[in-house]
Amino acid sequence: MADDPRRKLPSVDTLLGMLGDRPEPHALVVNTVREVLAEARQAASSEGTAASDLAGTVQSRLEGLARPSLRRVINASGVLLQTNLGRAPLSDRAIAAMAAAGAASNLEYDLESGGRGSRHEHVRDLLRRTTGAEDGIAVNNNAAAIFMVLQGFCSGREVLVSRGQAVEIGGGFRIPDVLRQSGARLVDVGTTNRTYARDYEAAITPETAAILRVHTSNFEVTGFTTEPSPAELAEVARRHNILFLDDLGSGCLVDTAAYGLAHEPTVQEALASGTDLVMFSGDKLLGGPQAGLIAGRADLVAELRRHPLARALRLDKAAIAGLNATLQSYLFGRERDEIPVWRMLSASRESVRRRARHWARAAGEAGDAIPGTTMVGGGSLPGQGVPTHCARFRAPWGAADLATRFRHADTPVIGRVEDEAFLLDPRTVSPSDDREVARIVTAVFQSPPHL
Ligand SMILES: *Cc1c(COP(=O)(O)O)cnc(C)c1O
Repeated sequence: MADDPRRKLPSVDTLLGMLGDRPEPHALVVNTVREVLAEARQAASSEGTAASDLAGTVQSRLEGLARPSLRRVINASGVLLQTNLGRAPLSDRAIAAMAAAGAASNLEYDLESGGRGSRHEHVRDLLRRTTGAEDGIAVNNNAAAIFMVLQGFCSGREVLVSRGQAVEIGGGFRIPDVLRQSGARLVDVGTTNRTYARDYEAAITPETAAILRVHTSNFEVTGFTTEPSPAELAEVARRHNILFLDDLGSGCLVDTAAYGLAHEPTVQEALASGTDLVMFSGDKLLGGPQAGLIAGRADLVAELRRHPLARALRLDKAAIAGLNATLQSYLFGRERDEIPVWRMLSASRESVRRRARHWARAAGEAGDAIPGTTMVGGGSLPGQGVPTHCARFRAPWGAADLATRFRHADTPVIGRVEDEAFLLDPRTVSPSDDREVARIVTAVFQSPPHL
């Protein structure tokens, strides 16, 4: 025991002495010292770790605690709606509105009468005007929207879902699981590749509450496939006096074909084909903050507004402000200029090529520009992309190391490794970040690692 190397670790007091006067509360410093010592005791490799190294670890951990955990990064990955990077980048208008909402606001206060107001009013009218819905409500996210609708209208009863649509959306979010949690019973209809309106019709019993259509947003079903149109399903539902619900996933308000992509069914189209309620995300192709939107029949939405889950799943004031601002951009036809998703998708190939070359030049010989494809991502438009140009970097010390160095820059720059090169796609980056990217490129190539 006497020569156990762990006994050589310094005492708490020794480390406290080395750290000197710290701006943090004393208890926090002591706890952090204990934490670091406990870790050193655990780690076999800590034999003979110098006390000064341990003090340094304590210091950087304390400094880390003072930094925001959520940091700005530059998404040059070439995936526009990167779920891991926070999905849709927000418009300036939305960011300003969200910042302003941090102070006191008329969130649930009627400025006209001085009486109580409703938080739902801030998005209701805009949602109606932009989608053509009779009424609408916003909740925490689309998963919450689907859950609330199923809980509210289908609990204890059956819901028909095509076998081709009983999908996992990502992060373990599976339609069959959500249905079960809501208390509804899933009834599979048709086959994985082909389902007809008559399959739904044959499955309807007195126990059936609804037909649920789910947008298969993260994979492509191609080949020998059939799914009935929303209009056909709405017709079946109406004839049998059950609901037709459509989980649109991304919930687009504009024609994606105008941006060189496949046509994504819009919210307006879904509602016009007779869907009772549509559910969609706020932070995918809508380009707003995290939210789940439910739009459709006024009597159903009114019921949802009174549902106990409306309180549990309600949207926060900042998200309400951001959603309000985002929908305003659509109302005034300014989405192409104001909402980053549409601005980025519609940037000309020439402007993207120019930016890629500019970034590449910052690395000297090590960089060039090559054509590529920007993907929409975020579970929208599977397999769909638009042409772009990427800055391509090569280094004798390897592309993976380049990726690490860009990720560790003062503003982390996220790219991707492809064919042993490191790529940065300007299409998914705001032009206002161009100089910063070029500066970071230069910095990375000016200080190569010691080989
Ligand atoms: C993304 C997605 C969801 C989940 O939406 P969140 O807003 O992330 O909760 C549900 N259904 C479909 C079809 C989706 O694409």
